[in-house]
Amino acid sequence: MERLKSQNRASVICTDLAKSYGSVPALRGVNMEVTKGEIFGIIGPDGAGKSTLFRILTTLLLPDKGKAYVEGFDTVKEYRNIRKIVGYMPGRFSLYQDLTVEENLKVFASIFNTSVQGNYHLIKDIYSHLEPFKTRRAGNLSGGMKQKLALCCALVHKPEVLFLDEPTTGIDPVSRKELWEMLGNLREQGITILVSTPYMDEASRCDRIALIQHGEFLKTDTPAGIVSGYSNKLWGIKGEKMASLIGDLRSVKGIISCFAFGGSLHTAVDESVINIDLLKRHLIDKGNIDVEIEEIKAGIEDCFMELAEKSS
Ligand code: ADP
Repeated sequence: MERLKSQNRASVICTDLAKSYGSVPALRGVNMEVTKGEIFGIIGPDGAGKSTLFRILTTLLLPDKGKAYVEGFDTVKEYRNIRKIVGYMPGRFSLYQDLTVEENLKVFASIFNTSVQGNYHLIKDIYSHLEPFKTRRAGNLSGGMKQKLALCCALVHKPEVLFLDEPTTGIDPVSRKELWEMLGNLREQGITILVSTPYMDEASRCDRIALIQHGEFLKTDTPAGIVSGYSNKLWGIKGEKMASLIGDLRSVKGIISCFAFGGSLHTAVDESVINIDLLKRHLIDKGNIDVEIEEIKAGIEDCFMELAEKSS
């Protein structure tokens, strides 16, 4: 089959992609188009379907329904072509724990019939963090170092498309930041990057994101586009008894939703029904004396909650 790549700017295309495990639906008709050279984030909580989507796109799993293409190749019929041009870093640790850093890289290079030197320019910056530990067994590296090595291994054959399944889960904040910087540099080299994460604050690192829940995409847009689509007024509320305050707020007419984020309660309100003074009075009646209320801007988490509520 003629590779569809020619005039197409899309690196990855999914149409109506669905997959269940027995009676458990994991993907329910996903449509997606990832542009060449972008960092595309798939953001959603555990169990949302992110790994299932990545396994289908990297040809490790067959969909029940729908079609998917990577660089113009059909994931079912042309899986061999796809395996040569993608790099995949699965969520669970993928390295050989008993082999050293150097040995892991060599094994991954030999699987793809290449050498570490062949594409050293791609991994150089990342490998510089690992070099001091090159004789250490992978199993003895810190979480952040393991992820950097896994990224090097996924890059060693110079993939056109890189799939990273939750690369920052469980690693320290400094390593998280470094990893995102590394992805930014890889994008500069023309690699298309699909990355999944449960951390909504990582959305701003992506060119575009898809918010996923229960196997469905809630919305796909740039991070700024998602935030500007938030439709309610949002107040940040703090009080002394935060646990009971949530319950009190949720019972007030005009309060659309209320969730705890960081140190405050993000509260979506219908301002045609309630204003700040009226709300304060309601809360005082319920025993909440010291309550601070301020209008805040919606973040990705707020948008996720709003979209999730609408879709349920
Ligand atoms: P995520 O990567 O977002 O955590 P997954 O794709 O791993 O989501 O899972 C999506 C849904 O499919 C979840 O309900 C999960 O429990 C279920 N699931 C995933 N893998 C299997 C499996 N091998 N067998 C049965 N259910 C599975």
